[in-house]
Amino acid sequence: MARKLIQIKQSRYMGFGCSDCEWRFNAARVPPAKSFAELVRNFEEQRDEDFAHHTCGMYPKSPRSSK
Ligand SMILES: [Zn+2]
Repeated sequence: MARKLIQIKQSRYMGFGCSDCEWRFNAARVPPAKSFAELVRNFEEQRDEDFAHHTCGMYPKSPRSSK
């Protein structure tokens, strides 16, 4: 089953993450933009790039969250 980019809505984290591991997108990595439209585009590009390049094995789910 392929990993997917998912939206996460938790009290401690709101944003995007991976369906298969604990990877979470760090919005601080989005480059500055001159306009809102540019910011949205930068955000999506950075998010998709970071997601594509992360390694699930480096972000194991905590054992307590299973079951
Ligand atoms: Zn992952």
